[in-house]
Amino acid sequence: MMPRGGAQARAEQLATLDKLAHEMFVAPEIGRLIDELVPYGETLDYDSDDAALIRRSARDYEKAHRVPPELSAEITRQGAIAYEAWVDARQASDFGKFLPYLQKNVELKQRYVDCFERADETYDVLLDDFEEGMKTAEVREVFDQLKAELLPFIAEIQEHQDAVDDSFLHGNFPPDKQREFSLEIIRRFGFTDDQWRLDPTVHPFASGTCPTDIRLTTRYAEDNLESIFSSMHEFGHGCYEHQVDRALDRTPLCSGASLGLHESQSRMWENLVGRSLPFWRYFFPRIQDAFPELGSVELETWYKAVNKVQPSLIRVDADEVTYNFHVILRFELEQDIIDDAIDLADLPELWDAKMKEYLGIDVPDEARGVLQDVHWSFGGLGYFPTYSLGNVISVQIWERALEEMPDLYDQFEQGEFTPLREWLRHHLHRYGRKYTPRETLEKAAGSSLDAGPYIRYLTDKMSEVYGIGAPV
Ligand code: ZN
Repeated sequence: MMPRGGAQARAEQLATLDKLAHEMFVAPEIGRLIDELVPYGETLDYDSDDAALIRRSARDYEKAHRVPPELSAEITRQGAIAYEAWVDARQASDFGKFLPYLQKNVELKQRYVDCFERADETYDVLLDDFEEGMKTAEVREVFDQLKAELLPFIAEIQEHQDAVDDSFLHGNFPPDKQREFSLEIIRRFGFTDDQWRLDPTVHPFASGTCPTDIRLTTRYAEDNLESIFSSMHEFGHGCYEHQVDRALDRTPLCSGASLGLHESQSRMWENLVGRSLPFWRYFFPRIQDAFPELGSVELETWYKAVNKVQPSLIRVDADEVTYNFHVILRFELEQDIIDDAIDLADLPELWDAKMKEYLGIDVPDEARGVLQDVHWSFGGLGYFPTYSLGNVISVQIWERALEEMPDLYDQFEQGEFTPLREWLRHHLHRYGRKYTPRETLEKAAGSSLDAGPYIRYLTDKMSEVYGIGAPV
């Protein structure tokens, strides 16, 4: 909502706040208190809130105190400035305009990496900020599996595109109706007017200051219904924050355990729930009421359309299967960026080559290529892999939920989502940040990171949608 003119002042304000908060947290007194508390924490029950609070705070402190407050402030300040440069560059579709800011961001990130002990790979340090404890090598292993299994599958689907008609997804859908329908869905999921909001934005996100103040944003395009899926996505993020145990309120533990786990929740509501046939058995007659032009479409046809797999240019618009390759491309480039293995001026070219290699797509301009995402403008290198990790994790948790609640899909058909939400509260959300992401995943899914369930889910579902035999 801020006018553009406020950007420079906001950059300075954010940098000041960041520096003050950082200085307060890394003050020697906090270090002394933590040193005193750690042995005490070890005498407590490992699962108690106090033990977790000490353990997690000690870990946060250990990381934070390595970074000089000036560097932390500079990263924040440059990020806010580079964001504006990125907006302009994207508008002009001119990477050259963004390049000097990206160079500065990368240089700061390299100084940041130098604050930490040498990791197996430089990228490990960046990844750890978003997915604590995850190694680049582990991510690479998962991504290599996705490449090996899904690239040939996408190629096969390409030959069966006639099986899926999605022409009716483009039409004239009044935004106020879209909002109304999105609200109808997420209210059934658990959105309530006294503790949640849904507002329009350019780039959808969820944010909140506490479990009783959850703010979702979405965007409405008159010619499509993407807002409905993005509302379900953001509900998933909001629900995670909303259901953290109230005993953790106003502590550093009162939020999700990692970005990957967070994304597992948004993708679960958006895809595993919101693109399932039972979900649409309940909601399809309702969306037909809201948008009469869908009146002549069959449920099965609709279900196939919302699951269509089609290589495309933009990550945030990508389908469930090709989405991962947008992420893998960025993950591979980012490692070269932080390692100084490439000249940043060559990024557009390298980007386009990978789009061609993975998705067979020619990139027409830099706005729809290397400049499409905001992340590099705020120095968020290491962030992208968590999107695909979220996909992988979402199905691991989903399989466990289905095992324990075999009638889950029957409930969706009745418009009933409370048992799923409550199951997620119990097995994942309530823990907040009490445990490491690895421990949290183990509690929620009963297993450690494994791409198998996700690959099976995608190939089974899409084989059904496209009427092709599932690969053995
Ligand atoms: Zn998300």
